[in-house]
Amino acid sequence: MEDSLKFFSEEVDAWIEENCPESMRTPMPVSEQVWASSNIQFPSDDAKRWFHSMVKKGWCTPEWPSEYGGGGLNFDEAKILKQRLRFFGCRPAQINFGISMLGPVLLEFGTEEQKQEFLPKISRGEIWWCQGFSEPGAGSDLANISTSAVLSKGTYTIEGSKIWTSEANKADWMYCLVRTDKTVKKQAGISFILIDLKQPNVDIKPIQLLSGQSPFCQVFFDNILAKESHRVAPENDGWKVAKRLLEFERTMMADMESEGAVDIEPLEVLRSTQALNRPGCKTLYRKICKHEMRNNLIEMTMTRTAIESQNGFAPSALTLKYLSTEETQKRWELNVASLGMGGLEIVDRSDGVKKEVSKSFFYSKAYTIAGGSSEIQLNIISKNILGLTS
Ligand SMILES: Cc1cc2nc3c(=O)[nH]c(=O)nc-3n(C[C@H](O)[C@H](O)[C@H](O)COP(=O)(O)OP(=O)(O)OC[C@H]3O[C@@H](n4cnc5c(N)ncnc54)[C@H](O)[C@@H]3O)c2cc1C
Repeated sequence: MEDSLKFFSEEVDAWIEENCPESMRTPMPVSEQVWASSNIQFPSDDAKRWFHSMVKKGWCTPEWPSEYGGGGLNFDEAKILKQRLRFFGCRPAQINFGISMLGPVLLEFGTEEQKQEFLPKISRGEIWWCQGFSEPGAGSDLANISTSAVLSKGTYTIEGSKIWTSEANKADWMYCLVRTDKTVKKQAGISFILIDLKQPNVDIKPIQLLSGQSPFCQVFFDNILAKESHRVAPENDGWKVAKRLLEFERTMMADMESEGAVDIEPLEVLRSTQALNRPGCKTLYRKICKHEMRNNLIEMTMTRTAIESQNGFAPSALTLKYLSTEETQKRWELNVASLGMGGLEIVDRSDGVKKEVSKSFFYSKAYTIAGGSSEIQLNIISKNILGLTS
């Protein structure tokens, strides 16, 4: 490592020692996540202190330019910062789709006015963003959206409905795909627009799920308004913004741990149940070892992809969401299997490690659907990497 980077790494370590409370260096249960919001809530004083220290430093968005509230770090410095935060087991200071998905596309496609209006607020965790892409008639075939937007005198009037919108009932703003031309090829008539959800005629209905929880909503727009200046990229050119945002979403999903998802090692679970010497456990042990090897390979591919992406498009990026989410599902299956009969306990009746395992096992089923299903990822890989015809 170069001397300057070594020095930076030492500086980061000292800063973490001074600013990251001990309790913020432990695995984070979902109930203790800090979501960026105009009404931000902290589960503890330590969480609040950690959030403010990270925001002050601009390290929630380490690579964004400092004039937009970022840390102004270069690629290598940001990589070291992430590595050191991970090494110390630091919790993410905030969960924010604005940081992981919208911000990067604003930096790429936004106007100077949009960057100045939104990026510093995003970095400071002041807005809860939700994603308005899917519709009742548009999921895998996303370009089929029909929510319409009509422009008149600098204002869009929007009519239609979005579905599966995670946490829309808590969100302040939505980044949204709307149809602005019905007469052309599907992809050529879509615009990407930022919508303030705190206005009349926005109706948000949570969708009850089997588990009793409800992160999903259906959102109804009845002639609601959005400023023309809040459209990202030219009118009818929103598909390219959407595709880029999905790349960021899929990269984030490939690295859920960096977003604070709880991780539990199957081998630790197996050890904790003292089942290693029981008959039949050798097969499970072998499966866990193979899984850990695949996991390491995926992590190495992620690092290689990040390096290659600096010089433009890296084809391996298209494989990461598929490989990583499928493997994460296997991880939770192995965790449940390692708990033996205890792994069958349902969420409400379980506690401690079992509670996290059973909850995460159920939720992991969603990873291979959200952000584009595994079948769609395989279609993308076969077309764009292997060159097969559709
Ligand atoms: C946890 C979670 C969070 C989500 N959050 C959001 C959100 O915040 N905002 C948002 O806009 N959306 C969100 N979604 C919706 C998500 O993007 C869609 O569920 C996903 O794109 C699939 O669309 P669909 O549900 O309409 O399924 P469909 O498109 O109807 O697909 C049904 C099945 O058919 C398969 N299939 C479809 N087309 C093909 C094909 N061409 N080739 C092979 N197989 C195919 C699919 O793989 C799937 O198995 C979320 C979903 C989940 C699970």
